[in-house]
Amino acid sequence: MITKRKYLLTNNRHCKEQSNLFYVASLGTTIQRLLRRTTDSYRYVRSVTICSFALIGFTQLATAQLMAKKETFTHADTLRGSLNPNRDWWDVLRYDITVKPNFEKKTIEGKVTIKFKKKYLPNDLRQSMQIDLQEPLILDSVITYQNIKPTDYRGNRDFTTKYHLNFGKQSSNSYLLDLSYFPVAINVKDSITIYYHGKPKEAIRPPWDGGWIWRKDAKGNPWMSVACQGLGASAWYPCKDYQGDEPDNGASLTMIVPDTLMAVANGRLLKGNEAERQRGNEASQITNLKSYTWEVKNPINNYLIIPSIGKYVNFTDTLMGEKGKLDLSYWVLDYNLDKAKEQFKQAKLMLRAFEYWFGPYPFYEDSYKLVESPHLGMEHQSATAYGNKFGNGYLGSDLSGSGWGLKWDYIIVHESGHEWFANNITTNDIADMWVHEGFTDYSETLFTEHYYGKEAGNDYNFGLRRNIQNDQPIIGSYGVNKEGSGDMYYKGANLIHTIRHAINNDSLFRQILRGLNKDFYHKTVTTQQVENYISKKAGINFSKTFDQYLRTTLIPQLNYVIDTAKATVTANWTNCIDGFDLPITLMPTNKHLQITTKQQSFKLTNAELAWFNKTNIERQFYITTKQVTFQP
Ligand SMILES: [Zn+2]
Repeated sequence: MITKRKYLLTNNRHCKEQSNLFYVASLGTTIQRLLRRTTDSYRYVRSVTICSFALIGFTQLATAQLMAKKETFTHADTLRGSLNPNRDWWDVLRYDITVKPNFEKKTIEGKVTIKFKKKYLPNDLRQSMQIDLQEPLILDSVITYQNIKPTDYRGNRDFTTKYHLNFGKQSSNSYLLDLSYFPVAINVKDSITIYYHGKPKEAIRPPWDGGWIWRKDAKGNPWMSVACQGLGASAWYPCKDYQGDEPDNGASLTMIVPDTLMAVANGRLLKGNEAERQRGNEASQITNLKSYTWEVKNPINNYLIIPSIGKYVNFTDTLMGEKGKLDLSYWVLDYNLDKAKEQFKQAKLMLRAFEYWFGPYPFYEDSYKLVESPHLGMEHQSATAYGNKFGNGYLGSDLSGSGWGLKWDYIIVHESGHEWFANNITTNDIADMWVHEGFTDYSETLFTEHYYGKEAGNDYNFGLRRNIQNDQPIIGSYGVNKEGSGDMYYKGANLIHTIRHAINNDSLFRQILRGLNKDFYHKTVTTQQVENYISKKAGINFSKTFDQYLRTTLIPQLNYVIDTAKATVTANWTNCIDGFDLPITLMPTNKHLQITTKQQSFKLTNAELAWFNKTNIERQFYITTKQVTFQP
């Protein structure tokens, strides 16, 4: 089971770990199958070629391990993954989404009002706006409001009539709206409302493949939700499906559902008139249907706005946290209420540990929630999807093999850890997704350490290494909506652990983690910003270390010779990029050995010499060590 699980875990397209219901096939066959698969979002042909690392200066490393798999991407991938001229000129301010699912027919219909503002005047006066909506969904009409009004023959701009915009398909997954007759002023809030319908792509193995989820619960009641990380929110609603542009003023989601079901989403449930205003009085009086409107006040990723519809019941709690009273709310299927009341006590433990390490929970205004999901889990902002069967571990197993992973509920800890890394700090491009998954994976180590001690945390982190494949670099291809290697999880966590021990000052390390969440609060970032921030705050230039672990598959080797008579260690790095200079910090005395690729000798104390061995070093640093004989 270990080999299978290792493979499964490192090939995840998304955050959460793999269920044991995946392909049962040999490793090689399965990988081939995955590489060849063609989906709406992954229309590419992988061919094994030598990746051109010349661009990033690694030509000196003519080693087979740097021969990464290069992918061929389509025009549609570029339209989806890059900030092209039809996307860049406008900034999303808010989404107001209404959706009405038909469980029997597996169809949805809905509308989305997008509030936006124009950032600058495009060179092309014929103003076009790219809206993403994936087949087989169909965009029906687009109407304009507010300032997007034509000038009448007298030059007046006070029309109150709705206007239909012309639009055409740009690719299978996007449309171009023609705004040329509806000039938009710079820095003025405008809006459009898009009507759409159809049969959305259905998720077969959520959350690892995306789409709408049509399920029945154990009692035969309809249970619906969506998972769309990677695939994109445009699989179920029209939007600007680009991670770097979050709606600054939040979003609302109205779900029109049978009145026997409850509908839950991100943020808070609006009541009465407030909800009525959001949904514009539509469909509220239809027999046997009921509508629920939820709203988040904070910026949110497209892929995190998610409906959850089923026979849900609710219980609540509060936590006195760093920013005051935090509302906790839990939504589970009616027959799981008692189990949830016990298991979800861990949410408070998680919040206390992560507020200590990362700073205040980033969405007090929107509350913290766990919502039972028909899949294992996902980091839906302020409404974490939970499907771990109300038991500890990862579906009852420990990813680290150390035993510590069985002490707590993997989904409560990991998916909620994303509230800080993914939801608070979001990468512009999913090629940099290690910032989400590496830090969140590391949150598991910190949780373990917080409640079971430092050595438990070390055990857990060390144990995760068995899941690392080092088959391709962690950082993926930019501009094509393509994430990097699954190593972003466990190798990412081990990179952070390594950096922590090079700093060897937990107070400073904690300040850096909290500082990231404060200085990049509700922002979208690049990996470079995060890397530079850590180097600057630590006072150690980790740029070569980041390059090594994020952009190559080489694991540095520390070669050393101990001369006990002279009380020295002579050491250097190999199997690394040119200029690699990770300092090894000696735990007993906090002395930094600035080891480089050239042999150097360092004088050590007896305590330091006693500490300097393979076990101690490899436990703190994700490297290999080798006792060698250097040439004189
Ligand atoms: Zn994750």
